[in-house]
Amino acid sequence: MMRLMLGLIALLVTHTASAATVIHAGFLFDTKRGEVAERQTITIEGGRILSVQKGFVDVANADVINLRDAYVSPGFMDMHVHLDGELNPPASYSEEFFMNSADIALRSTVYARRTLNAGFTTVRDLGAGDIDAIFALRDAIEKNIVDGPRIFAAGKSLATTGGHADPTNGIRSDLRGDPGPKEGVVNGPEDAYKAVRQRYKDGSDVVKLTVTGGVLSLAKSGDNPQFTDQELAAVMSAAKDYGFVVAVHAHGALGMKRAISAGVDSVEHGTYMDDEAMGLMLSQGTWYVPTISAGKWVGDLAKMDGKLPAVVRPKAAAIGPQIQDTFAEAYKAGVKIAFGTDSGVSPHGANGKEFRFMVEAGMPVMAAIQSATVNAASLLRVEDSLGQIAAGFHADIIAFDANPLTDVTVLERPSFVMKAGSVFRNDGE
Ligand SMILES: [Zn+2]
Repeated sequence: MMRLMLGLIALLVTHTASAATVIHAGFLFDTKRGEVAERQTITIEGGRILSVQKGFVDVANADVINLRDAYVSPGFMDMHVHLDGELNPPASYSEEFFMNSADIALRSTVYARRTLNAGFTTVRDLGAGDIDAIFALRDAIEKNIVDGPRIFAAGKSLATTGGHADPTNGIRSDLRGDPGPKEGVVNGPEDAYKAVRQRYKDGSDVVKLTVTGGVLSLAKSGDNPQFTDQELAAVMSAAKDYGFVVAVHAHGALGMKRAISAGVDSVEHGTYMDDEAMGLMLSQGTWYVPTISAGKWVGDLAKMDGKLPAVVRPKAAAIGPQIQDTFAEAYKAGVKIAFGTDSGVSPHGANGKEFRFMVEAGMPVMAAIQSATVNAASLLRVEDSLGQIAAGFHADIIAFDANPLTDVTVLERPSFVMKAGSVFRNDGE
């Protein structure tokens, strides 16, 4: 017992004695106020930010990271990714028949590394075909076994029969079966309750529903409503019991409006959002996660022959290019925006391109940075620990060699990435 006590004390002493890290930041993005603070000192210990002080302060026994000429931001947060795959048609449509969980999990570690390298220290993974792989990835990153962003994972997305996230759409009839709430397919309020509770049992952090048709599923409609008001009410009631943030994939306005009225937290894509939907989002405080990157990517694929399945191509051609215009309207109307790309549709690691698409559509660069920091943190209900460089927050810090406020594409090229106080990238060293 005594020896155990001594061992514990020794451990504590070495831990507390381990030097703090200090960052001298030339230009620090204050994402809460939307301002830049010059010449700041950030002190980090135990993965958290201890203090932010004015001037370049020397701290005794601390490791100093020199970012005196750099533009320093809280790590970015992408509210819509799928780390279990990457669209590579036509091959990606059949890979689930050839890849085991372990194959998918190993491949996802590469996508996770690319995402972190691009300055994204937190992601929300909104739906995985293979839940074992995505939860294993999330947990391995959390335990520092694998390098990657913090992951808030939905696990299996919820759909109705034949809906966008019905996992058996379009496959051979004798293999389709009749998936139910356990597999994420619900019909009626009872199923909806069971499906949300199953996500809790699976270990999901958030819940994702596909309330309208989608572009890439092997089904005809990309925008019809696919949940009833009763089903949505049941999902929201169950989600409230378990404290889940609820995200809905939606292209068509009718399905979108039903979901907003039911009180969901975020609308993803939002392609055919009309004035009434925007008004509802404003009154309900619903977040919009635009995913312009995915729209552009599938729009480009639709122009090429032999890339997308025949049933998908017209949907991609119509929906893809529309998203950026919808984003411009929604931003002008004052809808709350949280950053999201749908990476996995577009390539992992290119997440930062979304910033330029947002700025092209009329959003100031600082507002785009806020959408990927404080706004995303607020959507995830972690605004007290992520999205700012301030005392008590996780030490998720990135930096750029040039000024992103005068050239938004700089945000695609971070030169420094720290997560939880550990440096994963430092090009200046
Ligand atoms: Zn998605």
